[in-house]
Amino acid sequence: MIVVMKPEASRDQVDHMVAHIAALGMSPQVIVGTQRTIIAAIGEERPGLTEALEPGEGVEKVLPIMAPYKRASIELKAERTVVKARGLEVGGSKVAVIAGPCSVESEAQIVGLAGSLKALGATGLRGGAYKPRTSPYSFQGHKEDGLKMLAAAREQTGLAIVTEVMAPEHVRMVADYADVLQIGARNMQNYQLLQAVGDSGKPVLLKRGMSATVDEFLLAAEYILDRGNPGVMLCERGIRTFEDHTRFTLPLATVPYLHQKSHLPVVVDPSHGTGKAKLVTPMALAAVAAGADALIIEVHDDPEHAVSDGSQTLTPAAFGDLMARCRRIAEAVDRTL
Ligand code: PEP
Ligand code: MN
Repeated sequence: MIVVMKPEASRDQVDHMVAHIAALGMSPQVIVGTQRTIIAAIGEERPGLTEALEPGEGVEKVLPIMAPYKRASIELKAERTVVKARGLEVGGSKVAVIAGPCSVESEAQIVGLAGSLKALGATGLRGGAYKPRTSPYSFQGHKEDGLKMLAAAREQTGLAIVTEVMAPEHVRMVADYADVLQIGARNMQNYQLLQAVGDSGKPVLLKRGMSATVDEFLLAAEYILDRGNPGVMLCERGIRTFEDHTRFTLPLATVPYLHQKSHLPVVVDPSHGTGKAKLVTPMALAAVAAGADALIIEVHDDPEHAVSDGSQTLTPAAFGDLMARCRRIAEAVDRTL
């Protein structure tokens, strides 16, 4: 529910309503505006709540929050969220780019590549140390050693490290090395993991599950926000459909749709979204045109020999071309990159 206070409501009246909302078993969130204060009452909406809140002193009106997600909703927070991790800023007027290999393979690989990516304009470095692989026989990642390699690349370049965490019991350790915790598509509805990254307080890149609806995606974000962690980025990475000419189907209408429903920044992953290196740059351009706040792109010095996802991976030269072309699209939509 949203409790809208009268413009002249006193501090005591606001405090009283906050306590009243908490006593009703809901979580109060005070939003002080220039004209008036509103108090969001977050929790399960049940009959009788309006009647319990409306008579409060200083209350002008009580409105339901229409969306099933509350903290993620634009109804609760109109101004856009900007997520910051070192030099990586997602959600402002500048379109950010996170780039790097699918998997961290060696320290020399990740440190060398990070230098090239930084020179080409990336502000975030991606790379999996824990890899969610479809087959248990595929490379599972270098795990903590891989995290140390990422930390070495950050030491050299200052790039913000974006890396996946797959289990609640690993969150603390991964958070010791990473600047942004990535939740993979296969874990979007792993609610204990969502709560654990919420508790970590670190920025989170939440990937859309490959068969999740947009409401389910936003409710997954809600799990993280509900633990008091406001730093959530929503990443569209493609969904499963009947199509088989691409690895997944990348629905770019989600970008403006999410912007209309939520204040959270939206990232697009055209690498996993298409599965084909030749389609990555065209879809990156389209994503920027559609309003994406950031791109996440797989890049490797030698994609043919990458240990995972080589067929969707760009060379640094191709990535440089993507950056140059995306800059021109960004300018056309009144942004920079
Ligand atoms: C990845 O980014 O390397 C990855 C595994 O992505 P997704 O979870 O979207 O499949
Ligand atoms: Mn990958």
